[in-house]
Amino acid sequence: MPMSLIPKLVRLIRADGPMTVEAFMRLCLHDPEFGYYTTRPRLGPEGDFITAPLASQMFGELIGLWAVDAWSRLGQPAPFRLVEMGPGDGTLTSDLMRAARVVPGFRASAELWLVEISGPLIEMQHERLAVHGPRWAGSLAEVPAGAPLVLIANELLDCLPARQFVRTAAGWAERRIGLDGVGALTFGLSPAPNGFVPPPDLQDAPSGALVEVSPAQEALGAEIGARIATDGGVALFVDYGRDRTDPGDTLQALRAHRKVDVLASAGEADLTVHADFPAFAAAARSAGAETTAIVGQGDFLRALGIDLRAAALAKARPDQADTIARQHHRLTDPEEMGRLFKVVCVHQTGLEVAGFAD
Ligand code: SAH
Repeated sequence: MPMSLIPKLVRLIRADGPMTVEAFMRLCLHDPEFGYYTTRPRLGPEGDFITAPLASQMFGELIGLWAVDAWSRLGQPAPFRLVEMGPGDGTLTSDLMRAARVVPGFRASAELWLVEISGPLIEMQHERLAVHGPRWAGSLAEVPAGAPLVLIANELLDCLPARQFVRTAAGWAERRIGLDGVGALTFGLSPAPNGFVPPPDLQDAPSGALVEVSPAQEALGAEIGARIATDGGVALFVDYGRDRTDPGDTLQALRAHRKVDVLASAGEADLTVHADFPAFAAAARSAGAETTAIVGQGDFLRALGIDLRAAALAKARPDQADTIARQHHRLTDPEEMGRLFKVVCVHQTGLEVAGFAD
């Protein structure tokens, strides 16, 4: 039995040949024995990476107010399914629920569902969210249909794997992980499968351009779009990602807040690609829902009133004013999370939602 993921990857490649980046990502994150989320997810300042809800309670609180507002615009349906996908340690939903107390009825009407596949994180969610009586599902399909959705997901899309294709002089090739002369993991290229069609905007990409395509992100967009077209509701996605279909290699491994070598740290670091918001949103629209514009996290949070919220918090706790100012900066500044992180909402036809003013 191998003791870590790398010997297992080597064995799989020896047996089946070089693997796609998609297969590699899936194993690194979710291999039942050695995957990062299966065995050692470490979120937060002491861990491998930090997310917006862990950086500041203002994030979850504003999303909570957004969710209450969306529920009101939907006509205050009862019951409705309040779903968080990829809830991490449960902080976002915890902050959301606290903020949502301002409108009686929201929590009473909400059936809380957490979509999660990481055993260690489910444990943490149990601890933090037990008071809200959540239910768990391994996929959105397991959350029963038949009631409107108010769904939130922060940094979920970037865990859904992508394939990578490179334009070469001989046509499109797929980037794969194989073995070098001494049996170590290495990147290589093989001809793209027959029938590969690059995204429409990238068909004329120059030689050397690398294009990412995420079937899993697109499938989730289609699933959410179809679900909302049938049951009604809204789904808010916030992530590190692109708002245009641009080429570029965005595969990145993070350990202890540092970028580390993707192959050498297989299974031991968080591994992500940029969320492909244009493809995700297009898939949701094709399935019958509408989508907002794709906006920056800074603009979204400002539209929801983060400036006022930060000022009120600082007034209530003058001793914390510097910390609050730092958190505000981190969430909204274009050099920090404000621009690289994007937000989109999938919603039922004809509904207006807050936060996306042109
Ligand atoms: N939303 C949290 C955690 C982000 S980390 C936050 O903002 O702090 C990514 C989360 O998505 C983790 O909870 C991880 O276990 C979960 N995840 C990753 N891939 C998933 C998948 N295919 N299905 C469901 N959850 C997944």
